[in-house]
Amino acid sequence: VKERGKNDFQLFTHEMHQKLYRKMMIEKQLRSALDNEEFELYYQPIIDLNNNEIVGMESLIRWNNETLGQVPPDEFISIAEETGMIIPIGHWVLNTAIEQNARWQKAGYKPLTVSVNVSVRQLLEPTFLVKVKNAIEKYGLPASYIVLEITESIAMYAEVMVEKLDELKALGISLSMDDFGTGYSSFSYLTKYPLDSLKIDNSFVISMSQDAENKAIVKTIIAIAKQLDLKVIAEGVEGVEEYNFLAANCCDFAQGYGISRPLPATDFEDKWLTRSEL
Ligand code: C2E
Ligand code: CA
Ligand code: CA
Ligand code: CA
Repeated sequence: VKERGKNDFQLFTHEMHQKLYRKMMIEKQLRSALDNEEFELYYQPIIDLNNNEIVGMESLIRWNNETLGQVPPDEFISIAEETGMIIPIGHWVLNTAIEQNARWQKAGYKPLTVSVNVSVRQLLEPTFLVKVKNAIEKYGLPASYIVLEITESIAMYAEVMVEKLDELKALGISLSMDDFGTGYSSFSYLTKYPLDSLKIDNSFVISMSQDAENKAIVKTIIAIAKQLDLKVIAEGVEGVEEYNFLAANCCDFAQGYGISRPLPATDFEDKWLTRSEL
């Protein structure tokens, strides 16, 4: 027993060492990633459950690095947040998403909203509002076609945040609470913040059909949203069964692999964009 305990310990430290090493590599490679143009935005459609038509898309960052290969955002975004790299990366994301949407609208496609993920750290950065304003002016996209997706972690900064979000709202953009139900345990911020919509977290939606409790949670979140006059988006919609359940339970919008994976801009354009009717 003693012998095994010792081995376990060594295995653990080895694993820790590997994790630390990978983190350091990511940190190092991240520093030059923007200059080397290693990032790309993918787009995933958001569908209106009332008429099954596309109404918008979420932009999702992809990182392809020569040394590390494809690094998933779940792995590098938190490191970018810790190191502050999220500020320039987030700026690039915001500008790229707005520019892309403006270009599609100018090309005559039916106008869609673009949803952009924003970290708390970006929101707290003093020039964020100006950056959003500048991007809107530079690319000429009406603010009403921009949605910022924020997470429940903003609840920790209540007072400052209300002010910042009010200013963003005043520009005419929409605000969506991402990963709803996974983070903060109090709902008080829902009435404090000027939100337009809630996104039900993947984890509840994916396993809904096999799990009565998740079904109940999803229904409850939809009810909360309706009560507070917020739109509700379900993400992680992988199958037709889930899609139909959401439509039957008055969820407004759906997003997920069952509809489409996130796609590079050119593929998204081919598959999802349609000409405006004249
Ligand atoms: P998120 O904002 O909750 O985005 C939804 C994630 O679920 C995406 O993962 C998406 O590809 C994935 N997804 C969509 N439909 C399905 C489905 O049907 N089943 C399953 N299993 N997954 C589905 P992705 O692209 O790997 O992004 C992961 C997270 O990284 C995002 O979660 C978000 O928190 C963060 N992220 C991505 N892009 C950005 C960005 O530009 N800025 C910031 N700050 N964070 C980002
Ligand atoms: Ca999101
Ligand atoms: Ca989410
Ligand atoms: Ca998530």
